Amino acid sequence: MKGIVVQKYGGTSVKDTRRIMNAACRVVSYRKKGYDMVVVVSALGDTTDELIELSRQITEEPVEREMDMLLSTGEQISIALLAMAIHKLGYDAISFTGTQVGIVTDTSHTKARIIGMSSDRIKRALKKGKIVIVAGFQGQNQEQDITTLGRGGSDMTAVALAKVLRAKVCEIYTDVDGVYTADPRVVSGARKLDKISYDEMLELASLGAQVMQARSIEVAKKFNIPIHVRSSLSGKEGTWITKEERKMEEVLVSGVTANKGEAKVTICAVPDKPGLASKIFTTIAKADINVDMIIQNVSRTGRTDLSFTVPTSDLAKVRRVAEAISKKVGAKGVMYDKDIAKVSVVGVGMRSHTGVAAKMFGALAEKKVNIGMISTSEIKISCVVKKSHAAKAVQAIHKKFQLGKKK
Ligand code: ADP
Ligand code: ASP
Ligand code: MG
Repeated sequence: MKGIVVQKYGGTSVKDTRRIMNAACRVVSYRKKGYDMVVVVSALGDTTDELIELSRQITEEPVEREMDMLLSTGEQISIALLAMAIHKLGYDAISFTGTQVGIVTDTSHTKARIIGMSSDRIKRALKKGKIVIVAGFQGQNQEQDITTLGRGGSDMTAVALAKVLRAKVCEIYTDVDGVYTADPRVVSGARKLDKISYDEMLELASLGAQVMQARSIEVAKKFNIPIHVRSSLSGKEGTWITKEERKMEEVLVSGVTANKGEAKVTICAVPDKPGLASKIFTTIAKADINVDMIIQNVSRTGRTDLSFTVPTSDLAKVRRVAEAISKKVGAKGVMYDKDIAKVSVVGVGMRSHTGVAAKMFGALAEKKVNIGMISTSEIKISCVVKKSHAAKAVQAIHKKFQLGKKK
C-alpha cells in the first residue's frame, strides 16, 4: 500500500443517494491506486440544520447534552449509506461512529474539543483490507456521553484523523472548486486560490467563510498537516492550505468574507467605574459564551454604553446572563440587534503594508454602507454593517482590492 489518505465529504457532497454513489466511486478510485482509505462524512445535505429547527420547535434553550444526542444522528445515517454504496461497488468497507473509533472530547457539549484519539480500531480494519468510514463532527466525553465538535466539525474529525494516522494528505471535498477570494455564491468574479496560508484560512473561516471549520485549521497548523480543499463534482485541483511562504506576503489581501451569524448586545448606561468591564466579561465567559468585538462609548455623564457581539446561536443564553449582570452592576437595561453582519478583509500582506483599512472604508463609503463597529488584528480588518448591506459590501471591497485578478 502507498500510505493512508483521509478524505472528508461535506453535507453538500452527500446530499442525496446519487451524490453518495459519486463519493463512493471516488473513494474506490483511490483504493484502486493503492491507498488505504479513511473517509469522514458529514450529515446528508441540510440535515443538521433541520435537526436544530426541530429542537427549536420544542424549546429555545435545549439542554446541550440532548442537543448532541440529536445532532450526532445525522452523521450516523451517512456513514451507513456510504458503506453500503462502497459495498455495491464490490469493495469492503466498514462504518464507525466517533465513539467506536475512540474519539475522546472534553465535556463542552455542542462545541467539544478533542482531547485524545486511539487509532487501533481503524488500523485493524485497514489491515484487513477494509475502507474505513468515520462519522464526522462527533465524539464521546469521559462520562461516555456523545458530544459534537461545533458546526462544520467534520473538518475537525478529518484533520485529527490525518494527524493520528500520519496520513499523506487530508482532502476536504465540497461543492466548490476550493477556497475563493470571496464566497462564489455572493461574488460572481471571485477567484479560486491555488494556495493559502493556515493563518489566512483560519481568519477567513473564523470570519464567516464556512468552507472550512476554523478550529480544524488551528489543529492543521499546529501539526503542519497539508489540506487540499476541492470539489467532489470535478477532478480539478483545488486549494492547498499550507505553511506561509514568502511569496504570500506580497499579496495585500487574500480574501473578503461576511459573517451573518452574530448579534450585537448593548448593556446601556453602565456606571463608569473601574472593574465593571472585568466583572461583566468574566460572568459572560463563565457561561461559555464567546464574545467577539467589544466597544465602549465615550462617557460624559459618568455612565457608558458597552456593546459586544456574540454568536446568534448563543443569544438565548446571553439574554439570561446579560440581563442579570445589567441589574447587578446598576446599568439601565440591555438592547439586542440581530440585524448585523461582520464584513472582513484578510491577508498576511497586511503585516508589511499599510493603507488597507482606508481602502476598505473607502469602498464602503462609495456604496453608502454605514460602519457600526470596527476591529483589527495583524492580518485582518472587520467592520459591522447592516445585514442587508453585507453582500453589497463584500462585492464592493472585492472589486476595490481587485481580488478577481490573478496576482
Ligand atoms: P460542505 O457541505 O462541503 O461542508 P459548506 O456549505 O459547509 O460545504 O461549505 C461550502 C460553501 O462555502 C460553498 O458552497 C461556498 O458558497 C461557501 N463559501 C463561503 N466562503 C467561501 C470561500 N471564500 N471560498 C469557497 N467557498 C466559500
Ligand atoms: N453536520 C455538521 C454541520 O452541519 C458537521 C459538518 O457538516 O461538518 O455542522
Ligand atoms: Mg462545512
